[in-house]
Amino acid sequence: MSEFRASTLTKYPIINHKYDCVVVGAGGAGLRAAFGLVSQGFNTACITKLFPTRSHTVAAQGGINASLSNYEDDCWLWHQYDTVKGSDWLGDQNAIHYMTKNAPKAVLELENMGMPFSRFKNGKIYQRAFGGQSLKYGAGGQAHRTCAAADSTGHYMLHALYGEAVRHNCKFFVEYFVLDLLIEDDGCRGVLAWNLEDGTMHRFFARNTVIATGGYERAYFSCTAAHTSTGDGTAMVSRAGFPLQDLEFIQFHPTGIYGVGVLITEGARGEGGFIINANGERFMEKYAPNLKDLASRDVVSRSITLEIMEGRGCGPEKDHVHLQLHHLPKEHILKQLPGIKQTSHDFAGVDITREPIPIIPTVHYTMGGIPTNYKGQVLTQVEPGKDKLVKGLYACGEVASVSVHGANRLGANSLLETVVFGRAVADTIAQETCPGATVKVSEALGEFALENFDKLRTSNGKISVGTLRLKLQKVMQKYAAVFRTQNVLEEGCTQVSELYCELDDLKITDRGLIWNTDLLEALELQNLFINAIQSIYAMEQRKESRGAHARDDYKIRVDEFDYSKPIRKQKIRPLDEHWRKHTLSWMDVETGEVCFTFRPVQDCTLDEDECPSIPPKLRTY
Ligand SMILES: Cc1cc2nc3c(=O)[nH]c(=O)nc-3n(C[C@H](O)[C@H](O)[C@H](O)COP(=O)(O)OP(=O)(O)OC[C@H]3O[C@@H](n4cnc5c(N)ncnc54)[C@H](O)[C@@H]3O)c2cc1C
Repeated sequence: MSEFRASTLTKYPIINHKYDCVVVGAGGAGLRAAFGLVSQGFNTACITKLFPTRSHTVAAQGGINASLSNYEDDCWLWHQYDTVKGSDWLGDQNAIHYMTKNAPKAVLELENMGMPFSRFKNGKIYQRAFGGQSLKYGAGGQAHRTCAAADSTGHYMLHALYGEAVRHNCKFFVEYFVLDLLIEDDGCRGVLAWNLEDGTMHRFFARNTVIATGGYERAYFSCTAAHTSTGDGTAMVSRAGFPLQDLEFIQFHPTGIYGVGVLITEGARGEGGFIINANGERFMEKYAPNLKDLASRDVVSRSITLEIMEGRGCGPEKDHVHLQLHHLPKEHILKQLPGIKQTSHDFAGVDITREPIPIIPTVHYTMGGIPTNYKGQVLTQVEPGKDKLVKGLYACGEVASVSVHGANRLGANSLLETVVFGRAVADTIAQETCPGATVKVSEALGEFALENFDKLRTSNGKISVGTLRLKLQKVMQKYAAVFRTQNVLEEGCTQVSELYCELDDLKITDRGLIWNTDLLEALELQNLFINAIQSIYAMEQRKESRGAHARDDYKIRVDEFDYSKPIRKQKIRPLDEHWRKHTLSWMDVETGEVCFTFRPVQDCTLDEDECPSIPPKLRTY
């Protein structure tokens, strides 16, 4: 591999690199893609702003879904059904089919890498109950489908994947912040990155670029995700002039610790915990008579919010509810939920073997992202209804909208998504190109990104990064909340747009290039804004309730069908009359303006005989 110093003419001397593939991100998705590529002979650079094992994947607790049948009889088709239903019929069924069918293989692959799963007495991988998981096409019963390593599944998974990547001699560029994609002739030619350690600039030219940068939960004030979940990858795609998909769908996890937002895994309810209001009532029995506390996350979050709004919240301000675990045997808690016991002690000051945990719905996951097909290839649109592949560009993991989660993700389907589609991306690249293929590039690539970098570095306005970020987070928390209405969303859109203009008035105090965290956070804030604006405008334009998008003024889901009449007798109405479609948002980053087009939801065309599409029906738990 040749590395050479190119232009020293510009203000920031650039070091150029050439690789077959560049993977941005070293969480579950990035690592699986990276070693998948290396093992197939591709010279691959994995670039990450964090040390790989510090990626947010490490924080995942509850588990990873696969129909292994270690507890009861299970089948991937039932997992597929639950995921389609969980997505409120906005998930693409080809992608869901692919993910659920490959899930057992993916989990066994992790086991073979040495991931230390918890075990049943017979030695098989331990599986627990999780939200929205049922048996036999939702016909009844609670499936135990979530494979777990105690309550630190992400930690063990990420370390196993990192070990595997090191074993395959992946080339890592750690603490390199990717500024932007290098786009030429509608295709991606690699990325521009800033080495935080020594301040140098690097262009990584590659025929294939994989984005695996995670979500943008930090657009909100209270969230369970890492401070580094700032939507850098999605923002890069917007800046490159391509659309993002379904950003209106933001998941609130029902059980964030009150006041701090730290997550208590759904696995706590999977192990037998339940939620109570100030009167000590198990109110989920009322909202979801079958699955109760293990209904899907959007349903449980809304139920908690309603209880609080109707005055049955706990505490002096009646503004949270309680998660109770102390009825469970102490030994069981210590064995299956040791991390939760510690977290609750550290962040809420409670001993879960004796007292309940104060909890409140907290932002947890961003369902939308970069539109891809189930092979991980990034999609754009040439005209409404006509998809086109972006040459050389792939995405996987939380940053992508494949879309397996549609309007609402089921717990433990995300770790699964990272490994299944991380692998799919590597396999697709291996099918489409071969190692050593050349890539044509021009010298000017990356100029726009460097100009932006320089402008920010020398900005001398009045507002600090921390102050502006807090303002954005508070507006999103207040105006893009669990329940939404037109007036509130319009006000939120205006406020976020006004704040976007304040980015021009930032004050950066450190002008240096080495570990300049002030500048780094300013770049991340720009990215957060690009995600937040598109999210809240997308919420405003979607005039229905679906999955995590709950509109108080448009309470029902608007599909092709009127569920009050026999479905078979109805004609499907034209696409623009209903909302079972993906939102594509396009943002002009100069002006902050957003416009929308749409994509139809993909029905299942894989293995048609074995698995026909699952038609929409009413969603109850
Ligand atoms: C507290 C918590 C618990 C969870 N529990 C579960 C669970 O039990 N089961 C489940 O299925 N899901 C769970 N999830 C969700 C799941 O963990 C994540 O969606 C998933 O791990 C995301 O993986 P990823 O590889 O896409 O991204 P991440 O793990 O977030 O990794 C992103 C990577 O991108 C890099 N990066 C980002 N921006 C840049 C940039 N500009 N330049 C260079 N590098 C960059 C980072 O360094 C990092 O390596 C949980 C999430 C949270 C927050």
